[in-house]
Amino acid sequence: MLPDFDEFRRRADAVRARIAEACARSGRNAGEVELLAVTKSHPAAAAELAARYGLRAVGENRVQEGIDKRAQTAAAVAWELIGHLQSNKARPAARHFDRIQSVDSEKLLDILDRSACELGKIQAVLLQVNAGLDPAKSGVEPEEAPRLLAAALVRKNIRVDGLMTIAPLSDDPDIARRTFARLREIRDRLAADSATRLRELSMGMSADLDAAVAEGSTLVRVGTALFGPRN
Ligand SMILES: *Cc1c(COP(=O)(O)O)cnc(C)c1O
Repeated sequence: MLPDFDEFRRRADAVRARIAEACARSGRNAGEVELLAVTKSHPAAAAELAARYGLRAVGENRVQEGIDKRAQTAAAVAWELIGHLQSNKARPAARHFDRIQSVDSEKLLDILDRSACELGKIQAVLLQVNAGLDPAKSGVEPEEAPRLLAAALVRKNIRVDGLMTIAPLSDDPDIARRTFARLREIRDRLAADSATRLRELSMGMSADLDAAVAEGSTLVRVGTALFGPRN
């Protein structure tokens, strides 16, 4: 069951308070951290709630589900793909998503670049890095990240906004925190070596966003804390 708007507003305010608190503790400005509403598995009305609250964007993890919901949503909100992308879905993903956070191969870059060129758009992407070295997670291995970034930077219809990671599932909060710290270090090194800004660090979800913000997240991807559990 989706919350009504008043309940959604209470939950979103509470998430923003967590972000503000984590920022205060680490000397950051809360304005540097965006809240992305993860609407996967919820009806299109979830995106309407997020838009009405004033969020810029929503996140979906499946291409077709995102396309269907976008078609049902009147509100002006940006759509970001946060789930693993297979190359046979890359063309429709480029057509229908404002940003793709899960780019982890040159093959994907290639198809996205060609599709974006045909569509007359610049495709914004994040490079997904498996910063937690988790065999269960997709994303490029940290040592492969420089090569993937170099491949992205030479493609004219691709714009790299930054990096994304998902922390390994663990009862130990230190594991998530170390994963987020590692992504920031990878970003800092890549940005310096390539003289690109790579502003976005997409890291942190309902359970671990506090640690992610403490380590420099600029974009937390939150589903459960806003919309409740998924079936
Ligand atoms: C589902 C999902 C989220 C949101 O997770 P919650 O725990 O519900 O906040 C964030 N990022 C990705 C990549 C996801 O697939």
